[in-house]
This record gives sequence, structure tokens and C-alpha cells, in this order.
Amino acid sequence: MMNTKKYYITTPLYYVNDKPHIGHAYTTLAADVLARHLRAKDIPVHFQTGTDEHGSNIEKIAREKGIAPKVWCDGISADFRNLWKTLNIKYDYFIRTTDAAHEAGVQAVFEQLIKSGDIYPGSYEGLYCSSCEAFYDEGELKEKNCPVHARPVERVKEETYFFRLSKYGDALLAHYEKHPDFLSPRYRSQELINFVKSGLRDISVSRTKVAWGVPVRSDPKHTVYVWFDALLNYATGAGYNPEHNSPDFPVLWPADVHLVGKEIFRFHGVIWPAMLMALGVELPRKVYAHGWWTINGDKMSKSRGNYIRAEDVVRDYGVDALRYFIFREVPFGQDGDFSMEAFHRRYNADLANDLGNLFSRLMNMAAKYLDHRLPEKPADSEIFRELTSWTPEIHRRIEALQFSEALEKIWQGVSTLNRLVDTKKPWALAKTDPAALKSFLHEMVWCLRLLAAWLDPFMPDTASRMHLQLGVGRTAGGVEPQKVPPLFPRKQEEKTGDPKNN
Ligand SMILES: [Zn+2]
Repeated sequence: MMNTKKYYITTPLYYVNDKPHIGHAYTTLAADVLARHLRAKDIPVHFQTGTDEHGSNIEKIAREKGIAPKVWCDGISADFRNLWKTLNIKYDYFIRTTDAAHEAGVQAVFEQLIKSGDIYPGSYEGLYCSSCEAFYDEGELKEKNCPVHARPVERVKEETYFFRLSKYGDALLAHYEKHPDFLSPRYRSQELINFVKSGLRDISVSRTKVAWGVPVRSDPKHTVYVWFDALLNYATGAGYNPEHNSPDFPVLWPADVHLVGKEIFRFHGVIWPAMLMALGVELPRKVYAHGWWTINGDKMSKSRGNYIRAEDVVRDYGVDALRYFIFREVPFGQDGDFSMEAFHRRYNADLANDLGNLFSRLMNMAAKYLDHRLPEKPADSEIFRELTSWTPEIHRRIEALQFSEALEKIWQGVSTLNRLVDTKKPWALAKTDPAALKSFLHEMVWCLRLLAAWLDPFMPDTASRMHLQLGVGRTAGGVEPQKVPPLFPRKQEEKTGDPKNN
């Protein structure tokens, strides 16, 4: 029997301490673009996302709200799923760390590693950030504060189980050496390599103070440290359990790419592969860390009101405009700034003008002059041949997660077509040379079909509206005879660039 390995893409599990924002949407949308692209090439894909639900932060929030932690998790987890629906994200599996199968997998892993000696009991005293739920070394702090939260850390002593991370330093370095793209993009990898080279210490992987977690089976006063629990989702969600793997596991594993934000690169590039080595499980092929979005030049912060709700942008501009902007504005991997001014500018310039006008001008003429019949693929169109030859590069860019470069190339196509329309002046040809007009529109219809196919992973709604108008998927069909509504109606200037007032 053939079990074709699926291309397995993951996002991090999002922590349910707060509602989703643009940062969460970014990673999940990136996974969606890649997944849609591969599906269009008939490559079987498995795209997993989900929510991370344990730990003292959740316990604390639930206590403050006077509800059970699970009730809180159910609500926020549903918010995430609703947002993914709003953003037209098609994942294959949504995992929650409170799922029974995941919890059973975590427990089995813990027992297995106790047995092998890679997890051992001890006690720990260290500097702890309760927001990260992580211990820090003195040297990692920024002005004595947590480097992520810029908040004071506390000195904590407790009985804990340790994971023998120190044992895996050399093996990790050998793996990075042998697989230079394992840590991507490369400009972020050196920091991790240096961290491993400086010597790894064993890490605490259980808590006795946190009740809201997966209990250690053989020592239930401990619960599994929330990060250790969450990282395992990539394997448990694919059917992994050291006591009884699901038959799906070899179809999905190893993951082809873990997409993560740069703040959790170390967990995914160092701790996670070491955990897999300890379990004797093959490592994922790639961990890719993207950058952060600032809002109007400042760090995104809910408490300071400096954040953007994806739902608001979608309501005002449509989902595809958001999907376009975040991948066009900033190269995936690097940090970027989100401002509604920049968004508005790109919306009107790139979408309403360049793409929208091109499409409606041509489609209105095609509807009028092409007898509503979809012409055959042009045999001798130089422009169609030229654009077709760009497809491999666009595909390569998407597969390398170079989304902005792919969109740049696609927009080069849009500009090329716009320039061609300007020089050919088809509205004048209608009077002077109807045969030349027909043949020009014929070529243009096919170029627009190509454009729609390129746009599909990024802007699936727009692509399907274009395809519908272009008669794709209809055997006897042709271009739509009625007037074509604009793909992206022009918007008036924003009154304010202040996101919280939108
Ligand atoms: Zn922190």
C-alpha cells in the first residue's frame, strides 16, 4: 500500500491568554498561502494550527473571571477559529492542548523520557518570568527584566523534573551543519547556533505550583511545563504517541515546515529538536522564524491601545486586501510596520488602480466584443508566452516563503499588461480595426487567467471572482456579458492613521 507523505505545515499554537491580533494572523496566513499554493499543484498538504491552553496564566485569568479554565479556553479558542474563518484560512486540523489525545501523548512522552533518563527529578532555583512561564539566566535579562515582556522576573525555587537538554548540544550543532536550512532564514540562525555553542543547560519541564496542566502520570503533583506540552502538539496532532502511534503519523511526519515568530525561534530550533532526538523521532525539515509587526512604528500593545484588529481591516477593506498587504509590504522574515496610511495607499494604488482597473476595463471590453465566448488558448501570443514563462519563478518564491518577492513579480505582470493596454489603445481599435481588437482581447483574457492563477494562494476570493468572470471552470461558458463590478472599489482617504479609532 502506498502512503504518500503529505507536506506538513504548522503554525505555533496560540496562547489563549488574549484574543487574536494581526501577529497571530500573520503566521497563520503565511501557512495558508503556502498550503493553497501546494494544493493547487496537486501536492497533498496537511496544515495544522491550534491553541495552547495550559499554564498559570490561564489559571490566573480564569480565577479573576470566576470561571473554570476550560470555559475560558473554549471561548478564546473559538475566537481564533472564527478569525481564521474570517480570513479565509483553510487549515486541515485544529489542535487544542486540552484535547484528550494530545494530553495522553504528552503523558506518554514524559514517562518514556523518565524511563530513558532524559527526564530526571531535581529542584530548581532561578529567575522566572510568569508571563513567559520560563526561567532566564542572569545574562539573558534586559536591565534585570524579562527580555520579552520588559517586566521584573522573580526568584523561584521548586521541585521539578529536568529535561537533559545539555546532552544534545553537539548533536544539534551537527544537525545544523548538515542541514543549513533547518534554521531559516539564515540571517536568524547564527544567534541560535551561538547559543547552543555557548553550552546548553538542562531545563525545567514540570511545575508543582500549576494545577492547570497535564499531570505527570507517575508523579501527579507535577504538571508538565506549558512549553514542553505545547511543543509536542506538532507530533501528537500528527498522531504521535510513543505507546501507540496512529497509522497517520508516517504520512505526516516529519513536518516540512514549522512557521514561528522570531521570539519563539529558540524553543523551536533548540529545545524541540532536542526533545525529538531524545524520543528517537526524526526532526522536522525546517523551522522558519518571521519578524514582528509594529503598529505605526511602535510595538503592538493591547494595554496601550496600539494594536490592529484584523476583523476591522477586513470589514473596511475586504479580506483579500489584508492578505495582500501583509505579504506585499514587508519581506516575510523581516520586521515590518503596519500603518493604516500605508495600507490605504497600497489598497488604492495596487489593488483599486493597477489590478482592479485593468481587470474591469478589459472584461467590459471582452464582454462587449468577444461574443461572450471564451476563446481558445492563443497559439502565437508573445505576451502570453512571456508571462507564462514567469510562473516557475513565482512558484519558487512562494515555496521559499519569499512572499513579497512573489507578489512583486505578479505586480510586474499587472504593470506589463497595463502598459500594453495603454499603448495598444483597444478602445480606438474598436473603430479602426475590429479584428485586431478581438485578437488583442483574446490574448488579454488568457493573460488575466494566468494572473488569477498566480493570485489564488494570496487572494483566493479575488481569484475566484476573476475566474468566474473569465469563464474558468465552465465548459460551454464564456466571459460574463454583464457589467463587471470592480474587484476593489476605490476608498476615500482615511481620516486618521490611529488604529484604535478605526
Ligand atoms: Zn516574559
